[in-house]
Amino acid sequence: MLADFLPTSASSASSACLPRIAVVATGGTIAGALTGTTAAAPAAVSLTAHYQAGILEIEDLLEALPVLASVAHIEAEQSVQIDSKDMTLAYWSQLVYRVNALLTRAEIDGVVITHGTDTLEETAFLLHLGVKSSKPVVLTAAMRPATALSADGPLNLFNAVTVAAHQAAIGQGVLVVLNNQIHCARDVTKTSTYAVDAFRSPEVGALGWVQDGRVEFQRAPQRRHTCASELEAPLEAWPLVEIVMNYAGASTVLVDALMAAGVRGIVAAGTGNGSLGAPLQQALAQAVRRGVAVVRASRVGAGHVMRNGVVPDDELGFVSAGTLNPYKARVLLMLALSGDQPAPTSRLQSIFDTY
Ligand code: ASP
Repeated sequence: MLADFLPTSASSASSACLPRIAVVATGGTIAGALTGTTAAAPAAVSLTAHYQAGILEIEDLLEALPVLASVAHIEAEQSVQIDSKDMTLAYWSQLVYRVNALLTRAEIDGVVITHGTDTLEETAFLLHLGVKSSKPVVLTAAMRPATALSADGPLNLFNAVTVAAHQAAIGQGVLVVLNNQIHCARDVTKTSTYAVDAFRSPEVGALGWVQDGRVEFQRAPQRRHTCASELEAPLEAWPLVEIVMNYAGASTVLVDALMAAGVRGIVAAGTGNGSLGAPLQQALAQAVRRGVAVVRASRVGAGHVMRNGVVPDDELGFVSAGTLNPYKARVLLMLALSGDQPAPTSRLQSIFDTY
């Protein structure tokens, strides 16, 4: 029987001194399954793509992974059960609060969060800025549901707990572990709608790797994070910050609507080096004159946005997002605008140069 060859649980007598890892489950494809509706799809197409995210409870996922007991003592909680496309700011506040609370407990050595892949990079970066502990925090996910042929969730979860339980992960900020790679929350982004190796850190690459219990870091995060972060995630009342994009023929309709809605900040996902069509650039410069913070990022997916390169940022009052993609620039801008301090452009630029 194949099952006779699969690893089960800890055989070592030393399990008493294993680290204690809290697993906070939020749903996603890692907890996805074929359901009544999705099971109606023909067998050939229901192998990996037809399913519903956020169906299985964390206890079910852990029960299918008895080998985890050889790595850590697990304390699991089902926090929410959602598809991460439906992530909310209110839940983000709760999650930052909960992770910080778990990490203040002396007996907890690290936290693993299971999450959907769609907004994982945003949640990870939020925690990277808002968690005030050097203990490991690791997000993991899956590209294929738990009921798929060759589901990737079990190994990703095992690897995430392995990293969270490892000394080398202390002080590295919030980490994202999928497909045997360890990524920095600031750098990582989802780059494929279907591939198992969907998560990449463009330009800089992964921080390290994990395989069969072995963890190796090849570099460390360069920017400020966790304990060194002076930014706080709001407990409520997040500032309204939205993203607009430049593309051929982009009009000012969206910026006008955002201004009417009382937006506090706009991230512009510009073309190329964060460039903006003339009407959009004028509308955004006008927004700055009316007290709205405008950050230029790029829709390209790699590289950096050069301040005062193709756009006169000094003159127009724009901030450059540097290497942050538009979604992460939005997270940072929300945190930068939620403090008590006023946020002149120079201060915002310094925050974007620091985190
Ligand atoms: N829609 C899913 C989610 O983000 C996708 C995934 O987890 O891979 O929750």
